[in-house]
Amino acid sequence: MKSYTFNNFAVTLNKKGSSEYFKVSYPIRYGSFSEIKTREFIFQFNLNGEIKYIQGISKNWPHPAEWLKRTVANDWLYYSADSYSGIYDFFGEYYLPCPSYNSNSVTNRNPFNEKEIESAFESFKVLLDEIKRLNFSNIQGDLKTFFLNIIKNNPTSLAKKAERLHNIIGDQITVLPPDTRHVDYDVIPLIIADGCLYNCGFCTVKSGKPFSPRSKENILKQIYSLKEFYAQDVLNYNSLFLGQHDALFASAELIEFAAKSAYEILDIKRSNLKNSYLFIFGSVDSLTNPEDHLFKSLNSLPFYTYVNIGLESADPETLAMLQKPLTGKAINDAFLRMIDINKRYSNIEVTANFVLKDEMPQGHLPSIIDLATNSLGHVYAKGAIYVSPLMNAKGKKAYVNRKTILKKFNEIKRHSRLPAFIYLIERL
Ligand code: SF4
Repeated sequence: MKSYTFNNFAVTLNKKGSSEYFKVSYPIRYGSFSEIKTREFIFQFNLNGEIKYIQGISKNWPHPAEWLKRTVANDWLYYSADSYSGIYDFFGEYYLPCPSYNSNSVTNRNPFNEKEIESAFESFKVLLDEIKRLNFSNIQGDLKTFFLNIIKNNPTSLAKKAERLHNIIGDQITVLPPDTRHVDYDVIPLIIADGCLYNCGFCTVKSGKPFSPRSKENILKQIYSLKEFYAQDVLNYNSLFLGQHDALFASAELIEFAAKSAYEILDIKRSNLKNSYLFIFGSVDSLTNPEDHLFKSLNSLPFYTYVNIGLESADPETLAMLQKPLTGKAINDAFLRMIDINKRYSNIEVTANFVLKDEMPQGHLPSIIDLATNSLGHVYAKGAIYVSPLMNAKGKKAYVNRKTILKKFNEIKRHSRLPAFIYLIERL
């Protein structure tokens, strides 16, 4: 770690953050990064010299332990601490990542409308201009490389890079599995299958395409391009998301091929972060139809695998309202299969999603509570149920809706024999 002081800022290269993901109630950074500290802000950069975090340190910043994070898709998230305990109860995390784009947030706050957050972005531009004006004939080695990288990775080129990422994988990731919160949403996306099986009427994240697996050639091409794209910073990743909405329905062979190839080519075993995680969405059919072969194969991968299944409701009237073409029995069977897989495979953890709206058929809430309580003999620590708020109202009505949804969620949480959390839609 080397430090340098300039007129208006100080630089520290190659700082070491945590080498493991933890849930803590203070600002934590992972892997290796470099930092520039001014009087009012700390700007932190990944190993490619791309801005990743901004944190205010003046008295004007909304909260001393809150910060901004930029994703590899060039979206900004504001990590809100609020009261810590309330957030932890709802989300299982000490921070609530508020995205700069429309999502299913259950809070009223939009930090991106706040003056101090806007001034953080302004200050970043001012800092870049100041670095450009430095006399580079006096600056050598790692520091010079760092400055040249951050000049190259200006906001315009970072926006273009995000487009490049989507071109490489051939789509945008409209939603990440809720379990990716365990790695702070820092996953490398690799698409092995497009579309989904049901194209449910209520769903706002679907592509509308029928399910279609990618070829092995396409998958390999993505991995090699991703290696180039992530460049030096690939060392700060230990997790892979196999997209899109039902990659579990691709064959065991294709999943294994993609996961093992990515593990080798992206050199995940050399990551700055311990352990390795695989995230994948599945469906009722992809969870209940396959023989044990698929899960044996997943269990033997060099990853701890989280599989997330969209169940939405076990109430037939609600399923019809959501235009999800499944029966209550199929949902029940999938739920029990989830419990069974979690018991039998030490490297796989299946979680399930349900939806909540302010107004739903009467049988909806009891159907979730019944599954999460009466169908289980005891409390389980492994696995979880996530509840996704469906928000479509604006203004005052949205506030009332949020309150109703949170009240219903609390009822589920109070009864559930599985951990229960709210599912925030984060994209990539
Ligand atoms: S909920 Fe899942 S299966 Fe239904 S349309 Fe959306 S992505 Fe497809």
